[in-house]
Amino acid sequence: MLRGKTALVTGSTSGIGLGIAHALAAEGCAIMLNGFGDAAAIDEIQRELTYRHEVKIAYSPADMSRPEQIRGLVVETVEKLGPVDILVNNAGIQHVAPIEQFPDEKWDAILAINLSAAFHAIKAVLPTMRNRGWGRIVNIASAHGLVASEEKAGYVAAKHGLVGLTKVTALEAASSAITCNAICPGWVMTPLVAKQIEARAAANHRPVEDEKRALLREKQALLAYTTPEQIGAMVVFLCGEGAATTTGAAISMDGGWVAQ
Ligand code: NAD
Repeated sequence: MLRGKTALVTGSTSGIGLGIAHALAAEGCAIMLNGFGDAAAIDEIQRELTYRHEVKIAYSPADMSRPEQIRGLVVETVEKLGPVDILVNNAGIQHVAPIEQFPDEKWDAILAINLSAAFHAIKAVLPTMRNRGWGRIVNIASAHGLVASEEKAGYVAAKHGLVGLTKVTALEAASSAITCNAICPGWVMTPLVAKQIEARAAANHRPVEDEKRALLREKQALLAYTTPEQIGAMVVFLCGEGAATTTGAAISMDGGWVAQ
């Protein structure tokens, strides 16, 4: 049922967003990619998606910390691929430090990219989704949208905010057959987490492989990293008919992290 729909996935040049882009393209969606990275690598991602899934792919380097660029991204998607049927707010950054040492500019950037960007994108796509009488919005939150950890003030605040924004969007859009849900992953092995593991390994003078296992043991009952492919499959489910009445939910994919 997703064939021919247009999906905008923010932060899809890497990690989870790229996994989601592949999963939606495999269902026949045209995909607007977004994010930063090496130009040749992004060209290669576009070529591979087009070749593997035979769908239209476009790319925009719009900066999700800039509201006018977010609005521009939605306009560009409509021009190149058609009205946005599916919006996945995935772009995100992390910074780890105690509150007293947390740089103001990192706080501002995390709030802008991990939370405000979703507000601006939702605001920009909702009118057309309403007119067309269908829409799916999926916000990639985190286990940190439901519980806290030390030294992640910006991230935890933004992700809790994103879960709240998900609920408000779900209520306001419900009468137009538009759903909005959040996915709350635990640990996923992507560049965002690899950086944290390398920093911990260096600080604790331990091999990276030991630190990878330690990270899981600290938080999760099930000692496995969730994969971008699994998150892509959940997004596909949330966009399908089986999830037509699932809205305002925060769905954990966290190996039992928040069950404890
Ligand atoms: P990643 O670093 O691999 O990917 C982040 C993506 O966001 C990249 O495409 C990057 O270019 C893009 N991005 C960053 N700043 C941007 C900006 N200003 N404008 C546009 N794009 C920007 O990270 P990831 O782990 O794939 O994270 C994706 C999302 O999943 C994030 O919201 C993150 O908080 C969330 N998440 C990740 C994990 C995890 O364990 N990796 C767990 C829970 C939630």
